[in-house]
Amino acid sequence: MGDNIINFYAGQPPLNRVAFQRQSTDKLNAHLASPQTRILVFKNGSPLVRKGQPGALLYLDRDTLAPLIQDGYLGAPEQETDPKRAKAFEAYRPQGSPALLFLGIDDRGSNQDPQNPKGIPYFAINVEEGLQHDEGEFIEARVSGGEMDGWTAGVYSGARSVMDWNARYKFCPGCGKPNYSLWGGWKLNCTSFLSVVSGDPPCPSTKGLHNYAYPRTDPVIIMGILSSDGENILLGRQKSWPEGMYSCLAGFVEPGESFEDAVRRESLEEAGIEVGPVRYSSSQPWPFPSSLMVGCYGRAKDGQTIHAQWFPRSQVLSIVESASSVPTRADIKQLEEAKQTHHESLKALAPTDSKSPGSGPALVTGLTKVPAETAIAGQLIRLWAKGGMDLVSKL
Ligand SMILES: [Zn+2]
Repeated sequence: MGDNIINFYAGQPPLNRVAFQRQSTDKLNAHLASPQTRILVFKNGSPLVRKGQPGALLYLDRDTLAPLIQDGYLGAPEQETDPKRAKAFEAYRPQGSPALLFLGIDDRGSNQDPQNPKGIPYFAINVEEGLQHDEGEFIEARVSGGEMDGWTAGVYSGARSVMDWNARYKFCPGCGKPNYSLWGGWKLNCTSFLSVVSGDPPCPSTKGLHNYAYPRTDPVIIMGILSSDGENILLGRQKSWPEGMYSCLAGFVEPGESFEDAVRRESLEEAGIEVGPVRYSSSQPWPFPSSLMVGCYGRAKDGQTIHAQWFPRSQVLSIVESASSVPTRADIKQLEEAKQTHHESLKALAPTDSKSPGSGPALVTGLTKVPAETAIAGQLIRLWAKGGMDLVSKL
């Protein structure tokens, strides 16, 4: 059982995705035509925001974006009478046109028919060069996201991940032909669905179910590793991070691993710590580009020689209660750049000094910042430091 924490980027209540409408060209075009419709705009993964307000998405309307939206979504041509083939044309965008995503409907605040919710439709569109707006500017995705209100961040996180997927998965993994986007941006098909070139072997993706045709979510475990008495937490940092910044260790879950296995493997690999019991705390969508952060606590086994850095609860508590502990906008930019230049960026490497938990009252020097509450690492650290729950007894 988890800790029932609602993390930033989860957006509560979430936008009603009305996923069952994604295959309907008519429904999606009707939403697109609504005068209330709001469209998020992305360029190279960066959102359009109001100038000088990184957290304020600047939604545009359909008329402003008409040259890019063109005819919206298309359906099967009239001459297509084979229902199986017609499925290749469900709410699709012609190959090469800007990706247009149907995100869902904001149906908060009224009693709704769940099959036919009413409210403000949300879309997202990808622009290349050229779009200028007097009141807007494109800004780094992570800087912008961190300044949004929680609900907007939820809309944004899904939009950014699916937009990134549409923008980057240009070719079919089955045969190498170009892909096109359908189902309002929630599916990518191989263009061999649309026209069979005589002599070519059939693309394997034209039969069966293929995971590469749907948006991906990559699980990453992020770990609050506690000493066996629960009074110290293991944190690490990368050299490229802002000075004094430490965070929880993290790593991608590998194929064939459970979350628990991944926590134990990563702790051992990154910090030389053997972990016994592990439990799930909460999760967070992390749209840079499409991770799902799985927050876990783990308890180190007794009597280990360690080569990582433990931080006592009193010190971490004083850090999280200090206003200067939260990364600044410049810090976040630095973190973003570090991510782009370091392949192993999620492995927050522990420092090399040896320190045993409980080795004395002296505080470990150097720690001045931990992740903000908008990052799940920040939540894991705060939940433990404030001691609101007896985490160790639950491990
Ligand atoms: Zn193919």
